[in-house]
Amino acid sequence: MPTSNADPSRDSSPDSSTDIATQLVQPAQGLPAGFASLSQGVFHASTIVFPDVASFLARQNQAYDGYSYGQNGTPTHYALTGKLAELEGGGKTVLVPTGLAAAVLVNSMLLSAGDHVLLPETVYGPTLEMTQALFGKWGVTCTLYPNDIAADISKLFQPRTRLVWTESPSSNTLEMQDVPAIVKAAHAQGILVAMDNTWATPLGFRPLDVGVDFSIQALTKYVGGHSDLLMGAVSTRDEKTYQDLRDTAELIGYYVASDECFLALRGLPTMALRMERQFSSALRIARFLQDHAAVASIHYPPLESDTYHCLWKRDFKLGSGLLSFTLKNNTLPAIEDFVAALKLFTLGNSWGGVHSLVAVAPLRKTEDASDQGWLIRLHVGVEDVNDLLNDLGRALSV
Ligand SMILES: *Cc1c(COP(=O)(O)O)cnc(C)c1O
Repeated sequence: MPTSNADPSRDSSPDSSTDIATQLVQPAQGLPAGFASLSQGVFHASTIVFPDVASFLARQNQAYDGYSYGQNGTPTHYALTGKLAELEGGGKTVLVPTGLAAAVLVNSMLLSAGDHVLLPETVYGPTLEMTQALFGKWGVTCTLYPNDIAADISKLFQPRTRLVWTESPSSNTLEMQDVPAIVKAAHAQGILVAMDNTWATPLGFRPLDVGVDFSIQALTKYVGGHSDLLMGAVSTRDEKTYQDLRDTAELIGYYVASDECFLALRGLPTMALRMERQFSSALRIARFLQDHAAVASIHYPPLESDTYHCLWKRDFKLGSGLLSFTLKNNTLPAIEDFVAALKLFTLGNSWGGVHSLVAVAPLRKTEDASDQGWLIRLHVGVEDVNDLLNDLGRALSV
C-alpha cells in the first residue's frame, strides 16, 4: 500500500499475508505520537511519495516551499532555510553545496552572454576566478574596481552592467566597502548588488536591510563553526528572485545533504556566543599586535586605528575573529619561523570554527614596494585569550 507523505503516523506493518521481504521494504513508522525533542529531526529523501495521481501531477506547484523531490528539500532543509532567513532579518534562503557555489548560483541565475559584472579588486579569489574563467567562457565580461570606490562605482557602469559584487571587509586584507552607497548608485541604474557577507555574518551586518539584492554566506565558516562542514546560502527578500534562484539551483543540480543541514542547525544556537567571544578575543589580539615591535601593519576594521574603522563603526554591529597583519621582517623564512613556533594557532585554510588558525597569503602584486611580501592571517578561536596572547608573544619573539 503506498502511503501519503502527508501522513507521518502510517502503520509500518502492512499485511500479515505479505512475505518478510516485502515487509522489510515498508517504511518504519514516522514520528511517534507523544515524542518531542529540542533537536531537529533529520529526514532523508530522494523519492517523495504521493497519495494519488492528481497530487503527483501537481507536485511542481509546491516546488518552492513544499515537497516534490528530495533535491527540492525535506523538513530538515526547510528548518535550516527558515532559521537562516530569520538570521538575515527576513526573506527567503536557498542552500547550496559550498560558499563558492552561492556565488556561482547568483551569477548563473542572473548573467547571460554579453552581460557585464563588477567585482571588487580584493574579492574572494575563487569568486573572481570562477566569474572570469567560467562566465568569461560563456560571454560575460567583468571589471575589477577599487574597494573604496563607494558611489563612484557609477562611473564604471556599462550599458550591459547587470550585477555588482561586494565583499566587506575583503578576504585577507580586510578592506571595508561603503555598501549602502554602492547599492544606491547601482539601483539608480537598475543594476543588482550581491554581497559576500561571510566575514561578519548577519549577526554583524545585514546586507538585505541596506537593499542588497543577494546576501551570500559561506555557512562553512561561522554557521557550521566547527571546521567540519561545507555549505553556502543565498538569501533574498524578493519572492520572484527566490523562485528564480531555486529554479537555477535545480537546473544546475545543486543539493545539500540533510545530515549536513543538521550540522548547520547544530551550529546556529551557539553562533552568537561563539562570535561574541571570538570578536572580543580578536580585538584584544589586534591591540596586542598593533603595539608589538615586530609587527609592521595590522588589518582589523574594529580596531580604532584601522583605515576602515569609520565604515565598520557606522554599519556593523559585531566583528568576527579573522584579522591579518604583516611582519617588519616580511620574508618567508621569518614567517616560517613564526608559524612553526605557534602552538595554539594551527596552519590551515577555511576559518570560522572554534579553533585558532594561521594562514599565509602573498600581498597584492603591485608596483608599490609596501605591497610586496606576505600577509599573515589569524583566525581567533574560542580558546582562552590569554593563552592565545602568550602563544603569539612567544612566537613573535623567535
Ligand atoms: C570561505 C569563503 C568562501 C567560500 O566558502 P567555501 O564553502 O569554502 O566554498 C566564500 N567567500 C568568502 C569570503 C570566504 O571566506
